[in-house]
Amino acid sequence: MDAACRAAGRDPASVTLTAVSKTQPPEAIDAILAAGQRVFGENRVQEAQGRWRDRRGGLADLELRLIGPLQTNKAANALDLFDLIETLDREKLARALATAAEGSGRTPRVLVQVNTGAEPQKAGVTVDGVDALVARARDLGLIVEGLMCIPPVDADPGPHFERLADLARRNGLATLSMGMSADYETAIALGATHVRVGSALFGERIVP
Ligand SMILES: *Cc1c(COP(=O)(O)O)cnc(C)c1O
Repeated sequence: MDAACRAAGRDPASVTLTAVSKTQPPEAIDAILAAGQRVFGENRVQEAQGRWRDRRGGLADLELRLIGPLQTNKAANALDLFDLIETLDREKLARALATAAEGSGRTPRVLVQVNTGAEPQKAGVTVDGVDALVARARDLGLIVEGLMCIPPVDADPGPHFERLADLARRNGLATLSMGMSADYETAIALGATHVRVGSALFGERIVP
């Protein structure tokens, strides 16, 4: 992380490491918590509840980010557990989050997920739909902090990260969640503020 920031001429404090804990055993999570990591990404609401409900209590500075697809009927559960939802990709979900937030006293923080590769099997709003969804989510009272993408597996990620950065700029959004184990250096060079790293972080070093 620090080396990638230095290589890109960026202040390491400007990039947050989101540790993707989705498939990790409890020992691995406890080890990385003990090392001081506080920002975590999970891709399923129910699994994340099991993993984090008890740990959360003692960790006031923990930040949990949902990085997997969210069904509207789980919007309230997701809001209960997660500090931020990175996968807003349709108006119906924006409405469900706004409804779930009513009366809870919490204002949902979200990123809009963009399907930059226009892959039919992948979640995310189309590039053409970003501006409208951002505007709609803001109208509904959500706090839209930025954009997130997962480039196609086989593609050069650079152009996808550049496109996401352009879309964020024109919508006045500061947060860019992009880059995973294989391509976080490229993402940092192209402006990522959050990289989501799983396998490269929880290597054999931590998993017994
Ligand atoms: C699993 C996952 C990651 C982490 O992937 P690694 O290649 O293990 O770093 C990042 N983002 C999302 C959305 C994921 O589902």
